[in-house]
Amino acid sequence: MSQEIPKISRPIPKLNADTEEWWAGLRRHELLVQECASCGHLLHPPGPMCPECRSLDRGWRKCSGKGKVYSWVIINRPMHPYFFGKAPFPVVLVEMEEGFRVVGSIDCVIDQLCDGLPVEADFQDESDEFSMLLFRVVL
Ligand SMILES: [Zn+2]
Repeated sequence: MSQEIPKISRPIPKLNADTEEWWAGLRRHELLVQECASCGHLLHPPGPMCPECRSLDRGWRKCSGKGKVYSWVIINRPMHPYFFGKAPFPVVLVEMEEGFRVVGSIDCVIDQLCDGLPVEADFQDESDEFSMLLFRVVL
């Protein structure tokens, strides 16, 4: 008698009024950044108020998707069962050419990682409603 192992889904972030549009952009395969409608400051992660001028007027700007690795960590002991068979794997902090930094997954071998590694945003569809940001190395 065989026992069927239940499929474990990827954990999905909890959305709120500030982050909903960012995730909707990823679902459309667009990398967005929140932009202050008063002073033009780019804010990531998205929030309710501009930290530069305290304006509550916000909009969104579509980004080029191009950036460089600023820093990274290697996940050796994941906390969620979905990732147990995937470790070790890197998570990167990328400085986008627009000047803000964003955390994402990256499709590369760990030894390839270095400061300033050029990357480009790509999108990994996890379900009909949800996509993750996945960086790819630009060669
Ligand atoms: Zn502002």
